[in-house]
Amino acid sequence: MKITEIPYDGYEKVVKCEDPKSGLRAIISVHDTTLGPALGGLRMWPYLSEQEALTDVNRLSQGMTFKSAVADTGLGGGKAVIIGNPKTDKSEALFRSMGKFVDSLKGLYTTAEDVGTNVQDMVIVRKETKHVTGLPREMGSSGDPSPYTAIGVFLGIKACVEKAGLKDLKDVTIAIQGCGNVARFLCDHLAEAGAKLFVTDIIPEKAQLMVDKHGATAVSPDEIYDLECDVFAPCALGAVINDDTIPRLNCKIVAGGANNVLLTEAHGDRLRERGIIYAPDFVINAGGIINVSVELEPKGYNEERARQKVNNIYDAVRDILVTADRENIAANRAAILLAERKIEEGRKKAGKKATTAK
Ligand code: NAD
Repeated sequence: MKITEIPYDGYEKVVKCEDPKSGLRAIISVHDTTLGPALGGLRMWPYLSEQEALTDVNRLSQGMTFKSAVADTGLGGGKAVIIGNPKTDKSEALFRSMGKFVDSLKGLYTTAEDVGTNVQDMVIVRKETKHVTGLPREMGSSGDPSPYTAIGVFLGIKACVEKAGLKDLKDVTIAIQGCGNVARFLCDHLAEAGAKLFVTDIIPEKAQLMVDKHGATAVSPDEIYDLECDVFAPCALGAVINDDTIPRLNCKIVAGGANNVLLTEAHGDRLRERGIIYAPDFVINAGGIINVSVELEPKGYNEERARQKVNNIYDAVRDILVTADRENIAANRAAILLAERKIEEGRKKAGKKATTAK
């Protein structure tokens, strides 16, 4: 196993690992540990190049710093990616090798599941390192974070819907992009509240499950952007709000579970110019990390406490929208300012120096 450091301005530590024996090609990015050790999921995705993987992991790890800062989890931001196809390239050897890679950072970074990985994969990682969360409940851990992420997203959508002057979710139409772990729990809550659902997934069977369970209407992955709806809920991958998609949107609100929804921060400004309410991704989708952070508290995991903390997401989203209006800035910018203020306060308390901003 060969581990190499990739110096990256503005990041505390970025390392890559190549292990021809297990086939592992992975990168861990630790963005900032001012507020605590870095925690963030492990994504497995068939990136076309190492550069693409590096860009993704760094964007995601910075997002984790902001997410944890705003949600007061007492954690810093990090993320990891495996370059590979989660459908065909998984093996015990691969995840054991990843466990050794995580362990080499000696607790600077703690991992969990993300797109392309699951609780079972984390059980294998645990054989090589204790720095892993989101293990099964039977192991005293917090389990799959997705149901908690979905609760937070549901509450954040409610806050946005009220802000848009739409009183009841019964009168609301929601277009959900992706029908994976977060989205299927989100669909449960939205359907129970009486919302009308449109869904899409690049794997049509996944969308079909939502049609069968909730009477949702399935559309093609490209059609989802043009639908006339109240809420567009991105719950797949990032960068879906960009120059191509913003003119197509026919919604009042963008609010979903995906990370890095905006291609750039300026795309948040474009949404605001179009009068579309945007729930900043790292504020609305913090339920999973909040749940995991409770596992790391001195008393250990407590479901009730996790649920109470996740409920704060409603206020967090509402407050960001109010601040953005007051300051006349886009909601994503208001959220970043809040996160940076909290990190700066933590830095002063700890007497630490800032890492050079990227
Ligand atoms: P997942 O892999 O279970 O689901 C993603 C789904 O999106 C898959 O079904 C995939 O087929 C589909 N998809 C991919 N590209 C698509 C496209 N272009 N159009 C339509 N569908 C597409 O992952 P997940 O755990 O549900 O996470 C979804 C998003 O939420 C990710 O961005 C993730 O980083 C973010 N997130 C997840 C959690 C969590 O607790 N799982 C927490 C915070 C943020």
